[in-house]
Amino acid sequence: MRRVDNFNPGPAALPLEVLEEVREELIDYRGAGMSVMEMSHRSKAYEAIHNEAQARLRRLLGIPDDYRVLFLQGGASLQFAMIPMNFLGEGHRALYVLTGAWSEKARDEAVRFGEVVVNDWATQGGYRDIPESLPEDDGSFRYVHITSNNTIYGTQWPELRKTRSPLVADMSSDILSRPIEVSDFALIYAGAQKNLGPSGVTVVIAKDSFLAEANADLPTMLRYSTHVKSNSLYNTPPTFAIYVMERVLAWVENAGGLPAVAERNRKKAALVYEAIDRHPEIYRGHAEVRARSQMNVTFRLATEELEQAFLSEAGEKGFVGLKGHRSVGGCRASLYNAVPVEAAERLAQFMDDFARRH
Ligand code: PMP
Repeated sequence: MRRVDNFNPGPAALPLEVLEEVREELIDYRGAGMSVMEMSHRSKAYEAIHNEAQARLRRLLGIPDDYRVLFLQGGASLQFAMIPMNFLGEGHRALYVLTGAWSEKARDEAVRFGEVVVNDWATQGGYRDIPESLPEDDGSFRYVHITSNNTIYGTQWPELRKTRSPLVADMSSDILSRPIEVSDFALIYAGAQKNLGPSGVTVVIAKDSFLAEANADLPTMLRYSTHVKSNSLYNTPPTFAIYVMERVLAWVENAGGLPAVAERNRKKAALVYEAIDRHPEIYRGHAEVRARSQMNVTFRLATEELEQAFLSEAGEKGFVGLKGHRSVGGCRASLYNAVPVEAAERLAQFMDDFARRH
């Protein structure tokens, strides 16, 4: 068996220990005589997994009691639409802080449902930076939407700020990578396929008082209240994805929780950024230093030819997923929680070696 050094942007690396556990339990889940995939979502065994996943997430993020944890489908992309559907409308305005391609996509859905205000420094300089301060917010917005980590450009809010209006955050690519203050947010959402588990489940964490103000006149599946009332079991949830996520959450708890994970993530990112900075004649980081993402390290090489050579040599050495997003090109190393420190060390060493030879 050969496991590669997996720098995929998502779906992405999962902890090997979790994959081994899942393999172990695949055919006969803890004496049930069947796999989790074959179980009723109304069974006691599945219900225990579902509730344990919620409980672990609550412990890890310190989620207050007046917040709901939902497991939905449709990815973060459906949340782009569900949020404005539920919270915008006649007379409401939302502020969208544009920091990359995903926040633009979120904005594109919101404009269908209400008035949207955006920051005016939006696209300056190819989204290399994160604003020092938020645009004026007098507390009258229905919500303020941010993207905590910009997967494509490789920028991340160095620290997350409180807002006067309710704060909504797309944390798809950095949830669980560092401790956060959940009570500063009205709603947090994240597709699972980076730090949480396999694709197929989307986590939504939302405050009761915010949910209480949602629009009622929507199709059943598109109302948050439907999923709150049924504990995310209104219809068949993605049971297998939730099961694997529960195992990933257990792995994060055993690894020492978010402070320990954040420290490891800082170390991994520093290894790769230092390799970039050691060889300015070959590598150029995309993000401004203060806005550098701990999750997605984006960089370019001096020429297209060098980039091709870098990616092709990297592939031969068993480094996977280093090609940048098709919209921006260049290279990107995604260093989500499950990527081991040793993989970042090997990549940094390869980058040094490549720079010396070219
Ligand atoms: N937001 C961010 C920050 C992302 O990185 C992604 C996916 N890469 C999305 C949203 C879209 O997520 P999904 O594919 O789950 O709809």
